[in-house]
Amino acid sequence: MLASRAGREPYDWSAWRGDLLAEAPPGMARLQRLSQVFPAPASADDDEGFVDRVADTLLESAAAGSVFTEVRFGNESMLRPGFMELFRRAEQRVRDEYPVFYAEAIASVLLWYEPDRLAAVVDECVRAATEGLAGMDLLYVPYATEANWRVGRQVVDRAVDAGLGVTVHAGEFSTANIGAVAHLDGVTRIGHATQAFRDPWLLDVLAEREVTVECCLSCNVLLGAVPRLADHPLRRFRAHGIKVALGTDNPVQIGTTIGDEYAAAAQLGLSDAELLELTRTAVRAGFTSEDRRAELLGHLDGFEPEGAMGGVTREQRVG
Ligand SMILES: [Zn+2]
Repeated sequence: MLASRAGREPYDWSAWRGDLLAEAPPGMARLQRLSQVFPAPASADDDEGFVDRVADTLLESAAAGSVFTEVRFGNESMLRPGFMELFRRAEQRVRDEYPVFYAEAIASVLLWYEPDRLAAVVDECVRAATEGLAGMDLLYVPYATEANWRVGRQVVDRAVDAGLGVTVHAGEFSTANIGAVAHLDGVTRIGHATQAFRDPWLLDVLAEREVTVECCLSCNVLLGAVPRLADHPLRRFRAHGIKVALGTDNPVQIGTTIGDEYAAAAQLGLSDAELLELTRTAVRAGFTSEDRRAELLGHLDGFEPEGAMGGVTREQRVG
């Protein structure tokens, strides 16, 4: 998007994905590579450019049929003056074209920052919450082995006090941290949790704690969390009474849209009615106001199942 405005060739993410598969083994090595690339640095554009870029992202999601999209932002974007106002301008531009569409902003928070920087980022999120920031996504190290949740616990408490929703990455490549995270009061969603299928106790915990699992099918296949789409545990999760919503994770790099993710879920055998249920779950678990949630659920009640789409799309590192 940025490249097209600057008159340059768009970056070839499909070639990048080919290299990723050829050069990095499945699992953490691929995630590390993914985390090193960004569509564009936040400093690369002025306010208008930023609004354009966010609106492009939201427009792609709305055009794919989404009625509710959450976009995840890195800390650099959060610190941009007037961040939430710019985000709402981008959202409004999309709503002019798609009146039944809402978007919310989520901050990605890296718990491994040194304490002063982490405190500053959390302060900024708490302040932005008063302007409409909807939630936080927590990331930490070690990711694939058990982490210490002392600092995470404090950050979750501050977020909840500020009225922010909290989702945490866990269980993408190992069962580590799923149990700990699911037991943190205030955490209502877990990103991925793919490996929970390996442990019946973890499945019980996710169901009993009513944690919504954000399944990002294409991302899980590309990074090797599952060998093939057919191996994805989404249906097992649902059969166990676990709430499931769909997401795109990093759609630009992964080369997916929320529409593609619903198509992948259909490939796993979900019926149109079940796909619509995923959308309802996404809206119920979405980080948004109760007014917006009620409006969206009312809209979905009028949907025929074959028109079902939408959900929590996750666009990490939009800037
Ligand atoms: Zn992820």
